[in-house]
Amino acid sequence: MHALIIGGGIGGLAAAIALHRHGWQVRVLEQAPAFTEVGAGLSIQPNALRALAALGLGGRVRAHAVADAPVGVRRADGTWLIRNDVDRLIRRHGPWLALHRADLLALLHQALPPDALRPGVQAHQVRPDGTVTHTDGTCAADVVVGEDDVQWAPRSEDVRLFCLERLVTRLAGGRPPGAV
Ligand SMILES: Cc1cc2nc3c(=O)[nH]c(=O)nc-3n(C[C@H](O)[C@H](O)[C@H](O)COP(=O)(O)OP(=O)(O)OC[C@H]3O[C@@H](n4cnc5c(N)ncnc54)[C@H](O)[C@@H]3O)c2cc1C
Repeated sequence: MHALIIGGGIGGLAAAIALHRHGWQVRVLEQAPAFTEVGAGLSIQPNALRALAALGLGGRVRAHAVADAPVGVRRADGTWLIRNDVDRLIRRHGPWLALHRADLLALLHQALPPDALRPGVQAHQVRPDGTVTHTDGTCAADVVVGEDDVQWAPRSEDVRLFCLERLVTRLAGGRPPGAV
């Protein structure tokens, strides 16, 4: 079975990994010219960490993350505007990590075969038969998982739109115990 993922952000890559782990052939179309380092620090909350663990990435994420980073919002001068009681949240829900977005994206990229990643390709339209038109031409897949800004045409009850979160949770083995 072939799956085409439109968008190589955290959600699209996670969906691709989940499908790949289930034996699907996956391709990820990303409109950006390259999968490069982007962003800043990310807070990896307990449910996100459980989802990443279900994708086989828990250990690698922990190895790149900071475990006891303070969580909240600071003013420009560094003083706290809002500060979460992380200890209480960790006691209640589990580990809470901080990780650079570029490191997370690199781990997600590494979990996929290199030829699954197709940067510099913007999807334009998804047809009900699974054909996708894009900047390089067309391709087809049994399942298409996509971004909202792609044209899903013609709108029809035959077109199944997949919610990334539900798809990843389902393919990763169901709702993780204690998910928040
Ligand atoms: C400032 C900021 C801070 C955040 N901090 C946190 C945090 O600490 N912890 C946390 O859990 N979440 C955080 N988030 C939220 C988190 O970043 C998002 O939930 C997550 O990145 C969404 O991933 P995504 O793959 O759905 O979308 P995106 O990351 O937006 O990825 C979509 C990708 O699809 C590509 N694309 C779009 N259209 C097409 C097309 N037609 N063809 C091909 N490619 C296409 C885009 O180029 C992009 O790469 C933060 C968000 C922001 C903005």
